[in-house]
Amino acid sequence: MGRLLIIGCGGVAGVAIHKCCQNSKTFTEICIASRTKEKCDALKEKLEKTTDTVITTAKVDADNVDELIRLIRDYKPDAVLNVALPYQDLTIMDACLACKVDYIDTANYEPEDTDDPEWRKIYEKRCKDEGFTAYFDYSWQWAYQEKFKEAGITALLGSGFDPGVTSVFTAYALKHYFDEIEYIDILDCNGGDHGYPFATNFNPEINLREVSANGSYWENGHWVETEPMEIKREYNFPQVGDKDMYLLHHEEIESLAKNVPGVKRIRFFMTFGQSYLTHMKCLENVGMLSTSPIQFEGREIVPIQFLKALLPDPASLGPRTVGKTNIGCIFTGKKDGKEKTIYIYNVCDHQECYKEVGSQAISYTTGVPAMIGAALVVDKVWDKDGVFNIEEFDPDPFMDMLNQYGLPWIVDENPKTVE
Ligand code: NDP
Repeated sequence: MGRLLIIGCGGVAGVAIHKCCQNSKTFTEICIASRTKEKCDALKEKLEKTTDTVITTAKVDADNVDELIRLIRDYKPDAVLNVALPYQDLTIMDACLACKVDYIDTANYEPEDTDDPEWRKIYEKRCKDEGFTAYFDYSWQWAYQEKFKEAGITALLGSGFDPGVTSVFTAYALKHYFDEIEYIDILDCNGGDHGYPFATNFNPEINLREVSANGSYWENGHWVETEPMEIKREYNFPQVGDKDMYLLHHEEIESLAKNVPGVKRIRFFMTFGQSYLTHMKCLENVGMLSTSPIQFEGREIVPIQFLKALLPDPASLGPRTVGKTNIGCIFTGKKDGKEKTIYIYNVCDHQECYKEVGSQAISYTTGVPAMIGAALVVDKVWDKDGVFNIEEFDPDPFMDMLNQYGLPWIVDENPKTVE
């Protein structure tokens, strides 16, 4: 029995909210709060006839801590699920802290304005100290550790698929299959086709920033940076087939490097078709991926935000996307002194997701774990004071719920490895 305040009502939130409504035993009441209240009201109207969960809605600007505090004090939730954007992570954490309410999210903090001189000073020092240049990192949220501990509340970071399920797969492998994990390759394959020449599967701004950045991986205690898309491999994905995949920087590498003792190397690969890469390069070359404002016909616009307005809304891709995703991790390590390798993965079918919740598989594979993480926190199955990445909790109840809520997983004990 619990009350959840959900912030954001986009692609991922839509799935998380559907899934909360399938789990009315835990979520007796939910409040959907976002910037555009009409979207929250439309979803409430669609879902309330189908569920015992009592749904309310609210308008909130999640960049404004006072507004968030007012909403939390008024609704009195057991936890807040942040499925807005990474830009709002810190304001929502501040509000949770002020109200002593648990916090869950799916992506680590990244500033909206990367030209902000104060942020840039800290960022440039971090690039030098740590050796990776991505705009997002965990330092901002890990800095809340003592404050959350003192307040007696939990912050669960990264409860999506990657980070999220891939991190739980790691905790599960460590608990049940290995004494020590030495190598982790996280493979994210989207074998889906939406029929558009170019579209992104989740928020275009966040997606294109991530994909056009330098790649990096963790090796022997430090980061190794690469040019964007410099390292390419081919892999034959179960139930999808042969795909090209490219090494990217990805946020779970940072927390897994800290939380997996003795790990020697962690890499992340994502599949892209040639057409996607050619479009992205062209947009980048003409300046359309820039986050710096420019003057256009007497007003200021941010090129990547303008591009977002032109691209298909990821939430609208559901009906047209066919094919499957396959996301998982290949682990190599030691058990009882012997070397072994296993591959844990989930395969998700875009059209089946659409039939069930009206979304494509990328939103589905993120929204389901967001609900599961929130349920385990609300039910106090996961209950630790402080700020934690998801691999720091017992993976077993999460793994059971993945099977129960639509993301069944497979363990292959004899997989093909990545060169
Ligand atoms: P969308 O852009 O579809 O949705 C974002 C939602 O947040 C929208 O409803 C938007 O409102 C709302 N929002 C934005 N700014 C504010 C604000 N200031 N105040 C209140 N509401 C706001 O994004 P997605 O659903 O694709 O992504 C959601 C989150 O999931 C992101 O953080 C993304 O990084 C993360 N993600 C994580 C993955 C993982 O595997 N871990 C994978 C994919 C995504 P409006 O409708 O008005 O625009």
